[in-house]
Parts: sequence; C-alpha cells; structure tokens
Amino acid sequence: MVDVILKKGKEKAVLQRHPWLFSGAIEKVKGKPANGDIVRLLNDKGDFMAYGFYNDQSRVALRLLEWNENTEVNEDWFRKKVAVAVASRSELLEDGSTNTCRLIFSEADYLPGLIVDKYADYLAVQVLTSGIENIMPVIIDELQKLLKPEGIFDKSDASSRAHEGLGTINQVLAGQHPPDVVKVLENGISYGINIAEGQKSGFYCDQRDNRHIVALHSKGKKVLDCFSYTGGFTLNSLQNGAIAVTSVDSSALAIETLKQNIELNNLDASKHTAIQSDVNKQLRVLREQGEKFDIVVLDPPKYAPSRSALNKASRAYKDLNRMGMLLLNSGGLLATFSCSGAMDIDAFKQVLAWAALDAGKEVQFIYQFCQPEDHPVRASFPEGEYLKGLLCRVL
Ligand code: SAH
Repeated sequence: MVDVILKKGKEKAVLQRHPWLFSGAIEKVKGKPANGDIVRLLNDKGDFMAYGFYNDQSRVALRLLEWNENTEVNEDWFRKKVAVAVASRSELLEDGSTNTCRLIFSEADYLPGLIVDKYADYLAVQVLTSGIENIMPVIIDELQKLLKPEGIFDKSDASSRAHEGLGTINQVLAGQHPPDVVKVLENGISYGINIAEGQKSGFYCDQRDNRHIVALHSKGKKVLDCFSYTGGFTLNSLQNGAIAVTSVDSSALAIETLKQNIELNNLDASKHTAIQSDVNKQLRVLREQGEKFDIVVLDPPKYAPSRSALNKASRAYKDLNRMGMLLLNSGGLLATFSCSGAMDIDAFKQVLAWAALDAGKEVQFIYQFCQPEDHPVRASFPEGEYLKGLLCRVL
C-alpha cells in the first residue's frame, strides 16, 4: 500500500475525521498509486493517520475511509458499511406505506462517492469516485444479497464524475432493466418513476417529510406548487384536501408524469392545473392575472453550486421569494426551500428578510425544514447538509 505524507500543520481536519483531504495538504506521495487505490495517510513524523481512496485528478485527492490503523479496509469492510446503511433505513420502510428512499448517502454513510436509491424492487446507483468504482462488484453483490432487487441500474450521469476523470454511465449493472414506469409509494401516495430518463436518479425522495408537513396545512386551501417536478407537493396537498392546486415546472416529462400521478392516485383532476413554463415567467403572469393563493411552494434547483456563486444565487433566491410572497393572500404560507449546500439556514433567513422588505410584507418563520433521516448529516462532515427550508407566514 502506498504511503501519502501530510504537510506539517494539516492534521486537524483529519483528526476531526473530516473525510476530505485536499491535494494542497499533501507533502509527498511515496510511489505511484492508481486513481481509486486505497492508500495510507501518515503525518510528517511518519505516524499513521487514516486510510483513504486516492485520486490525483480530483481537488479532493484523498477520501478518507478509516482512522483505525488495525482495521483493514478490505471487501468485508465495504460489505459491513453497506449493510449498516441499509439496516438503518429499515424502520422508514417498515409499515409498507413508503418503499422508496435513499439507502446509501455517500460520505454520510462512510462510502464516499456512492449513492444508492431504492425504488420499490429496483435500485438506482450513482458512482461518483474512482475508489467506489473499483469496489462496485463487491457492493453490487452485497446489495443483491441484502435486498434481492429485480434490477440495479447505474445512473452515474452526474457532472461531479468529471472531477474524478470518470465518464457518464446509464446502464443496467445487475438483473433486469427497469420498466419505463416503476411504481413506488411514499407515505401512501403512488408515483410513477422513470429511472433511466428522470432527473437525478429519478425522484427527489429528500422532500418526503417536507411534502407531508406542507400538506398538513393544505385542507381547504388554494396551493401553487412551483418547481413541481412529478408532483410531490401537489399530490400530498390534493390528498390532504386542497381545493385547488396549480403546478408549474419547465420539464415536459415532469408535467406529463405529474398528470399520470394524479390519475394513479384517483385524485380529482378538475382541482388541478398543470403549467409547463419557466417559474420566474409564470409568477409574473399569475400576478398580472391577479391570482392569489393560500400556500405557495418554491422548491427550485440548486442556485449556488459553490460558495463563489453565493452572491448571485442569493439575489436569485430573493427575487423568486419576493414574487412568491406577492402571490399570497394575507396570512398565507410560503414553503420555500434551498438545496444549495453553500447557503446555510442563517443566510437563507437573511434572503427571506430581504425578499419580505422588497415585497412590502411581514414574514414570520413558523417552521424549519431539513433533509430526512435517509439523508443523514455526519457530525464530522457538515458539507453533507444541503437541504433546508422555511415555512413562512406572510402578512
Ligand atoms: N418539488 C419537486 C422537486 C423539484 S426539483 C418534488 O417534490 O419532487 C426542481 C425542479 O425544477 C425540476 O423538476 C426542474 O425541471 C424544475 N426547474 C428547473 N428550473 C426551472 C425553471 N426555471 N422554471 C420551472 N421549472 C424549473
């Protein structure tokens, strides 16, 4: 095994068990490890610090796996991590009302670069590091043993693969190709998922709890669901007695699937309006038409992919939320989200305060949304926390 020597004074984050080591913290690589190899990290005095995946193409040159020198990072180590992660989701799936969730969430589950989502009897995986790519045969074997899925599909078309020098993949890894529509259940609501063609790995299961919480407020209400995708917030609101729901998304496939999902759940399509459009444009149209809503949901894609994009993103979030506020009846609720890891909850509150001022509204924060239990945040890896939201009463 190749030894990698840490620069003097760079121990702190490693000792705190942060799983990333940037290339700038490396003094020397003693040998020529291949990308994805497991190497041993030593400090400048030669003391053992951790084992990790090596990759010289990535800014994160080492993804640390294990801090105990006597614990060998072998096949069995990976099998155990997979098993522990899968077992920790069993309660969530126990009563059968939900059969889709994230089974493995990368660093948070001690498997940097591996994402595994369950869609009923199918699994969709994303492989984002060369280290995980090397060990995939073992991981697939363990997933098959534990879960006996009908099929495992590789959905590794994430741009982050490029940072590790890996290409794009969209293929069956084991078992059958998933059908065009895989039916899943989330909190008793059915969704048709197109694993191969859908966004991300097909479904945003990170909003499971938040959809439910928003829907608790929707009885007898008129709801506007912006960035609806296949209807997570829409379906929950209709199911919970909303009198009218308008959904807006720019993706034709998402809107088509959303309409099918309304039928799938025997919901009253006459209470629903689907609009395929740019949200920013549509919010202006609705305002010109004098439309008002009791609940507005804003769940945009990631506006700030990095810290450097934060200023620009803050302005975009502010404009979006200002428009959302202007479409609410007095006392109405704005359920607003940011999935930008670079924007923390305090910064997001600040953005909403600006939006409120610009809109001439008073805003009360009445609830803070976060990511659900199958997207854990590891204490030593705060970067894993990305999804946040606020339920605001707008006066
Ligand atoms: N709320 C959804 C998830 C939203 S993901 C759920 O509960 O499942 C973000 C969505 O925003 C995607 O469906 C994407 O198609 C859509 N989108 C991105 N930019 C957009 C824009 N400018 N206008 C409208 N929709 C947009």
